[in-house]
Amino acid sequence: MSFAAISKLQRILGNRGFTNPKLEREFQKGYRSYGVRFLHISSMLAACSFMAFWLVDGLTGRRGVLDDTQLIRFSVAVLFMVFGQLVQHFKRFFKRHYAKTSSCLVCFSALTTGYIAHIGQINAPASSAYWTLTSAFVLATLVTYGFARLNAINTLLLGGFMMAVALAFGAAVPDFDGPGYQRMVIHLFAANALGHMLHRLSMSRERKLFLQSRRKNRVADLRRMKEQAEAADRAKTAFLANMSHEIRTPMNGVIGALSMLNVDKLTERDRLFVKSARDSAKNLLDILNEILDFAKLDAHKVRLTPTTFNLRDTIVTACESFRAAALQKGLQIRGDVSGVPFEVKTLTADEGKLRQVLLNLISNAVKFTQQGEVVVSASVNLLDKQNAQLVIDVSDTGMGIPEAALERLYQPFYQVESGTSRSHGGTGLGLAICKQIIEEMGGQISTRSAIGVGTTFEITLEVPYSTVEQNATDGLADQMMFRDSVPPQDQDWKLTGDVLLVEDNEVNAFIASMTLESLGVTCHQARNGEVAVQMFREKAFDVVLMDCEMPIMDGYEAVRQIRAIESEDTARERTPVVALTAHALTGDREACLERGMDDYLTKPFDRHMLAVTLGKWLPMTVSATATSD
Ligand code: ATP
Ligand code: MG
Repeated sequence: MSFAAISKLQRILGNRGFTNPKLEREFQKGYRSYGVRFLHISSMLAACSFMAFWLVDGLTGRRGVLDDTQLIRFSVAVLFMVFGQLVQHFKRFFKRHYAKTSSCLVCFSALTTGYIAHIGQINAPASSAYWTLTSAFVLATLVTYGFARLNAINTLLLGGFMMAVALAFGAAVPDFDGPGYQRMVIHLFAANALGHMLHRLSMSRERKLFLQSRRKNRVADLRRMKEQAEAADRAKTAFLANMSHEIRTPMNGVIGALSMLNVDKLTERDRLFVKSARDSAKNLLDILNEILDFAKLDAHKVRLTPTTFNLRDTIVTACESFRAAALQKGLQIRGDVSGVPFEVKTLTADEGKLRQVLLNLISNAVKFTQQGEVVVSASVNLLDKQNAQLVIDVSDTGMGIPEAALERLYQPFYQVESGTSRSHGGTGLGLAICKQIIEEMGGQISTRSAIGVGTTFEITLEVPYSTVEQNATDGLADQMMFRDSVPPQDQDWKLTGDVLLVEDNEVNAFIASMTLESLGVTCHQARNGEVAVQMFREKAFDVVLMDCEMPIMDGYEAVRQIRAIESEDTARERTPVVALTAHALTGDREACLERGMDDYLTKPFDRHMLAVTLGKWLPMTVSATATSD
C-alpha cells in the first residue's frame, strides 16, 4: 500500500499523524510506552478474572475443579499471567514490536473469550448462545479500538478476523439460524463503528495532551535554562569582582614599592625599567577598576549621588585630562559649550558618574583616531522652569565603526577589532559601563558612525538645572576627592603632624609608613582596630588612616569607638579619619562617610594621592621639583 493511501486511510480513521516526522516519532514513542503499560495491566486483569471464574465455579460445586472447561479457564489465566510478566520484563521488545504483539493479544483474548462463551452455551438455546457470543466479541472489539493503540491496517485486519471467528463459533451452535447471523454481523459492525469513534476521540485527545505537556516541558526547560544562565552570569560577575578585589591588594605593594624607589640613584636604564613597571602596574589597576565597576553596576549595587555642578567645568576638565595624550598623537581636542544657554549656571546629576562616562568616551575617541580632532560638545534645552534636556556629543574623525558592529558595541567585552589582530588595548568594558550608568540615570546613549569619516557618541539626559551660580570652591574640592580626576603632578609635598596608620597587611603597612615618613609626617602604627582604639585613647593624633577590613576589630567598629571616646571627652577635637580600602568604587566612599569617616582613599594609592588627601587635613608646603616621570 502506498504511503499516500495509508495516510488517507489514517485520516479517515482519525489517526492522522503530526506533519513533523520528529514530533510524530516522539508522540508514537510516548504513546507506545503507555500502551505497553496497558498491555501489562490488562493481561493481569484478564488473568485475575479467569482465575475468579475458575474458583467460583469450582467452589460452588457447579462443576468439578478440574473438568475440561475448568482446565481451559485455569490455563488461560496462567497464560495471561505469563504474558503480563513477559511484557513487564521485555518492555523494550514490546515497545519496538508494539502493533504486532498487541494484535496477537487481542486475537488471543477474542478467541479464548469466544471459545469459552461457546463451550458454555453449546447446549443452550440459540438466543442465549447468540447473546453470549455477540457480547464477547463486541467487548473484544471495543477493547481493541479504545485501548490497544493499533495503527489503521492492524485495526482493519483485526476487525475482519474477529468477525470471521465470531461467525465460525456461531456456526458451531445448533439452531443458530440465518437471522441470528445477520444480527450478529450488525452488532459487530456497530461495535466497530463505536470502537472507531472511541479510538478517534482518544487519539486526538492524546495528541492534544501530548502537545500541551510538550509545551509545558518546553517552558519549564526554558525557565530552567534561563535560571542556570543567570546563575552562571552572576557567578562570573562575582568571580570577576572577587578576583579584581584580591589582585588590588598585592598591587598596593607593587605600586607603593615602585613609587618609593629612589629614582635619583638609578642609572638611566634602570629608571626606564622602573617607569615601565610603574606604568604597567597602573594600567593593570585601571583594568581592575573597570572590571569592578562593571561588576557592581551589573549587580545594580551602585547608588547615584546627585550633586549640583558646573557643566562647563566638567567638560573642560574631562578634555584637559586627555590633552597630553591627544597632543602626542597630533590630535586636536576641544570642548564646545556654545549650546548651553548663558542663564544655566548649574545642573544636578551624579557628576562623578557623568565624568566617568565622558572620560570613557573621550578615551575611545582619542584611542581610535589617528588624525584630525576630538570634539566634546554640550547643549542644554530648557524643558520647563526646573528641568532641562542635556545632550553631550563626543565626536571624532577616526576610523569609524562598521554598521554590523554598532548593535553589539555596548555588550560587555565586545571589541570591534578582536582576536590576534587587535592593535589597541583595553577590556571592552568601557561602553558597557557607560550604557549602564546612563541608563541608571534615566538617559540614553547612541552612536552614529561612518567608516573612515568618524564616530559620534551622543548622551541624552533629563536633569534639573539652576540659574544661580554655585560656590566655586565646592566644585574644586569635589574634584580633589574624585580619584580619577587627580592629575599627575611633579611636585614635592611636605606635611607635618602625627598620623595613626591602622593596617593589618605587613607589606601595605610598611609601604604606607615609608611613604608617610617621606612626606614628613610621624607615623604610628596599629595592626587592628582594637589596638588602634587603645592607642587613640592614650594619645591624640592629627589624622587616622584606617583600613576597613581587619581581623579582631574592623575599621568601621574602630571608628565608632573612636567617635564615642571623642564624645565622652569634650576637650578632644574631632580627629579626621581617612578610610583605606581596596573597595574601589565610588559608592563605597559614601558608605565610609556614613559610618563616621571623613575621607576615603582607595588602595593601592601612590605617594601623590596620599599627599593630596592628607593635605586637606594637615599643614602642607608644596615645592615644584621634577620627579622621575
Ligand atoms: P576599554 O574601554 O575597556 O579600555 P575598549 O575601548 O576596547 O576597552 P569600549 O570602550 O567598550 O572598549 O569600546 C568597544 C569597542 O568599540 C572598541 O574596542 C572599538 O572597537 C569600538 N569603538 C569605541 N569607540 C570608538 C570610536 N570612537 N571609534 C571607533 N571605534 C570605537
Ligand atoms: Mg574604551
